[in-house]
Amino acid sequence: MNGVSNTARILLRDDLRDFAGYRSARSEALQGSVWLNANESPSASPGDADGRLRRYPDPQPPALRDALAALYGLAPAQVLATRGSDEGIDLLLRAFCVPGRGAIVIAPPVFGMYAVCARLHGARVVEVPARDAGDGWRCDLAAMADAALRQHANLVFVCNPGNPTGEAIADADIALLAERLRGRALVVVDAAYAEFAGHDASAALLAAHENIVVLRTLSKAHALAGARIGCVLAASELVGMLQRCQAPYPLAQPAVQAALAALAPDAVARTRTSVARVRGERERLLGELQSAPGVRRAYPSQGNFLLLRFDDAQAAFDALLAAGVVVRDMRATPGLADALRISIGTPEQNQRVLASLAVARQAA
Ligand SMILES: *Cc1c(COP(=O)(O)O)cnc(C)c1O
Repeated sequence: MNGVSNTARILLRDDLRDFAGYRSARSEALQGSVWLNANESPSASPGDADGRLRRYPDPQPPALRDALAALYGLAPAQVLATRGSDEGIDLLLRAFCVPGRGAIVIAPPVFGMYAVCARLHGARVVEVPARDAGDGWRCDLAAMADAALRQHANLVFVCNPGNPTGEAIADADIALLAERLRGRALVVVDAAYAEFAGHDASAALLAAHENIVVLRTLSKAHALAGARIGCVLAASELVGMLQRCQAPYPLAQPAVQAALAALAPDAVARTRTSVARVRGERERLLGELQSAPGVRRAYPSQGNFLLLRFDDAQAAFDALLAAGVVVRDMRATPGLADALRISIGTPEQNQRVLASLAVARQAA
């Protein structure tokens, strides 16, 4: 599973084949006790009591890579730590899409960063809309494969669980997609919410398919959105390709410290408990909302949020806001003109959501 990705080798931008990236002072494997090779200050910053911030950080701290690899059941060489998984999306676009010519496939409604990064990079966005089946959303992975082949797309983004749809996509369907695109396109599985699905196929998918790349993040289940730490999981050769496209010192030292603390065994155990609590609250809230008047539809979700359609989404949004509850207004998204997305909070916060929606119904 630590092998070579032929698809990545075929698809890497031609103009980047001999690109080594920036050689930072930290990338030279030298030994010494007096470091005068990076123009760092000889004295610590006044606010930096222990002098930890004086030096440039390690581009890929081995302890962080080891901890992430252990967390996801992979080898350290299969992990590229990034500034959130958002950076992973950007790096994939840069490495595999020639500006002005490359293309990606997405299944809207879906996380907006795929299209944003594509646009900034001058890559075409091919949309294969997901279908609202009433009891949930379905991506058409066969149609996505067709579109990718027809349009010569380089990357196919599969958000699983889906944001904002909450959809869980079957591993077998992702496997089939990867088979059809082998040698032709990379399948990027964005598993930002995998913890909340209670099912993590990252390692198995990577082991079986050389053209699959997985994005993970510490922002959601691990409660570290402010630290901006995520990672790309892929064959080691592909990890190397992406690292050459990355900034020289992408990870701020305090962020790395926060991530290491969150990945200590006792912290991971506590995270599991809080994820289980969120999952329980998600199901409780879903049950309440599915039978609530004024709620046109409450979709099942494998994430830490619910997507809801309302008879009067404005009234619901206003009632929540009047109670101090800020939710994500989805109404500008095609096909979601009556929808809001609500993150799962603490039990008390979720009660407040239910109470304010009941008020909205009485007013209507
Ligand atoms: C939140 C989110 C991300 C971004 O995560 P960061 O690691 O904070 O950049 C990526 N993908 C999806 C689907 C998300 O919802």
